[in-house]
Amino acid sequence: MFEHIERVPGDAILGLIEAFKKDTNPRKVDLGVGVYRDAHGNTPVLKSVKAAEERLLEQEETKSYIGSHGDPAYGNAILSLVLGEGSPLLTDKRASATQSPGGTGALRLAADFIRTNLPGKAIWMSNPTWPNHHGIFDAAGIERHSYPYVSASNTLDFDGMMDSLGRIPEGDIVLLHACCHNPSGFDLDKQQWQQVLNVVKQRNLMPLIDFAYQGFGDGLDEDAYGVRLLAEQLDEVIITSSCSKNFGLYRERTGCLILVAKNEEQMNNVRSQVAIVARENYSNPPSHGAAVVSTILGDEALRGMWLEEVDDMRGRINQLRSGFVDAMAPHGLAEKFDFIKQQRGMFSYTGLSRDQVERLRNDYSIYMVSSGRANVAGLSSDVLEYVAQAIADVSDT
Ligand code: PMP
Repeated sequence: MFEHIERVPGDAILGLIEAFKKDTNPRKVDLGVGVYRDAHGNTPVLKSVKAAEERLLEQEETKSYIGSHGDPAYGNAILSLVLGEGSPLLTDKRASATQSPGGTGALRLAADFIRTNLPGKAIWMSNPTWPNHHGIFDAAGIERHSYPYVSASNTLDFDGMMDSLGRIPEGDIVLLHACCHNPSGFDLDKQQWQQVLNVVKQRNLMPLIDFAYQGFGDGLDEDAYGVRLLAEQLDEVIITSSCSKNFGLYRERTGCLILVAKNEEQMNNVRSQVAIVARENYSNPPSHGAAVVSTILGDEALRGMWLEEVDDMRGRINQLRSGFVDAMAPHGLAEKFDFIKQQRGMFSYTGLSRDQVERLRNDYSIYMVSSGRANVAGLSSDVLEYVAQAIADVSDT
């Protein structure tokens, strides 16, 4: 029965990882993979996470199921982290949290919830967006469209975005990146978020905000600006949050689906529907990552340690952004690449063409995604000059 099944090409980024591993050039640089790297190229377990794990190892008393919504302590901790300590949404009991297997799991819960409870609604996502957004909503059977986000000259195409949002059919879903847009690195400023809020209100759209990089842009609260603005000003919002990056818990699959409803009763109604969606997908979420997060956020000392670690990761990324532009200066290209400093998060659309990316890989062993997306965290001060020289070389063509 399997005879007719064809092999499909693997994920492009996984192919890149394989090619990088095989490359014997000692100067090779990996700017492809979407994980944070420290100055030594490692993705270490955070110290706060290790400390929380030690406690859990001693104190955990059961491996019994935790229920479809997960651990309430985790849900409450994430609600405060995302919506803000003392948010009116929390006092009004308008927000529901459901622990999920990563941000991806939260997105899939959102997609299935939409398909069942908002039938016929299409979703609109930025072009470009994280490629898995396409797959997740296609798999859930939701009609998918895009709105412009990056211009041909590699800038944020906010006018194009607004023009497109203004024409979305009433009641459709609009997928927004809260911060650190993947893959481009172009984020909205406060005024632009206000304009997005206005158009969402005008067209009666349902925002679905993907919040996968809280703390990696300008700060934990700063990065939540758009999320909190929309959640506080609208009756209904869907938010997907991930602890993969800011807690470095990638493989522990730790995320959360947040639904904001008009009042407590409607919140409880939609919450009951999410429990069904979770049950049908995987029954109960995995426990470990969420237990680590609620341990950290619930303990003053661990929380302080974690806040510092998030600051360090963000600081390193933003320092590398400036360092990269400085390294382009001797090649007369600092101005051309100055936008890298304005972009936020791990990723940058560099504006390099497919051919230039290929030359960087073949001639210099510098690996990035063919769209020209680079993971800035893959850089280090040791390789900045080498990378700058290589980019200058391929930029002549
Ligand atoms: N959304 C975006 C935009 C992402 O880049 C990612 C991770 N690459 C996710 C969601 C999901 O992250 P995870 O499932 O690993 O928590």
